[in-house]
Amino acid sequence: MDGIETSATAMLRGFPLACPRDGESLYAEGAALRCHRCGTCFPVVGGVPVLIDDEASAFAIADYQSGDGYTGPSYGREADRASGVRRLYRRVARWLGDTGSSIRHPDPADALAYVAASRPNPRVLVIGSGGLRFGGVDDHVLHSDVAFGPAVDAIADAHGLPFPDGVFDLVVAVAVLEHVADPARCVAEIWRVLDQGGHVFAVTPFLQPVHMGAYDFTRFTPIGHRRLFRRFDEVAAGVAMGIGSVTAWTFGALLQSVSPGRRWRLIARGFGLLCTPPLRLLDGLLRHGADAAGGCWFFGRRRDGAPVSDRALVGTYHAQFAHGPERLPAPDA
Ligand SMILES: [Zn+2]
Repeated sequence: MDGIETSATAMLRGFPLACPRDGESLYAEGAALRCHRCGTCFPVVGGVPVLIDDEASAFAIADYQSGDGYTGPSYGREADRASGVRRLYRRVARWLGDTGSSIRHPDPADALAYVAASRPNPRVLVIGSGGLRFGGVDDHVLHSDVAFGPAVDAIADAHGLPFPDGVFDLVVAVAVLEHVADPARCVAEIWRVLDQGGHVFAVTPFLQPVHMGAYDFTRFTPIGHRRLFRRFDEVAAGVAMGIGSVTAWTFGALLQSVSPGRRWRLIARGFGLLCTPPLRLLDGLLRHGADAAGGCWFFGRRRDGAPVSDRALVGTYHAQFAHGPERLPAPDA
């Protein structure tokens, strides 16, 4: 490599990249990226850099490199490779699961609009983007995940985000923090990569059965979720799934628990979905079910002083008890 190459900083979609091990800048070396300080080589597979700390992460770099057409750890996303009939079943099941649920958390696009009101063309990081692209073609959004997918720009583990400090105006993590081994460390990383006054939008389960198998580590009560973001000032927060939906989901789990057989579980799941929409309709009526909510969401602004104290957090409990707003406030509110 020559001097010009080693002094260049690797960029992805206009964002500077950093070594997930030590935060040092990366440079291009052939088809891969290498760290200026520790010398670690990060492969680029199908145009997607694999920026994982191989020693610390639950995911191994080698798993992303093996074989033609290999799509990396499935992370429970078998649905992407399911046959036509199973895919149709999953699609109908998802539609039935959504039917009736009358509590909605704000869309990440609302968070983007909120931030854009004070910061034109905000720089956005999506963690655990899965198959969903977020924002329009003109938006400055980087999608990351631990599995390859049509929307994924970079493979990254949230325990060590491969970016320098302060490069984003908004970080989005929807249904992600239950799947990480150390949520507090991941939120510290979110705080680190946010610019001063940057925002985070997160949606995380509370009362939900295990999903994605081994990669489902934890749950948060609304107050526990607020504490996770204690280095942020709350802009708005609420419940992401109501008590009716929780009851419906739990009823489905009860039916499935009768037998471990795959066929029975499919039948039970379908039956459970067909007969539980009325329960989900209760979500909107039972406005004081936050203590048994299916999930919570938080939208907050990075604070630079001391974290919110536990005493202050405890004092917010009554405000959390009702299921809260379903929309973000106007940016100037
Ligand atoms: Zn390094």
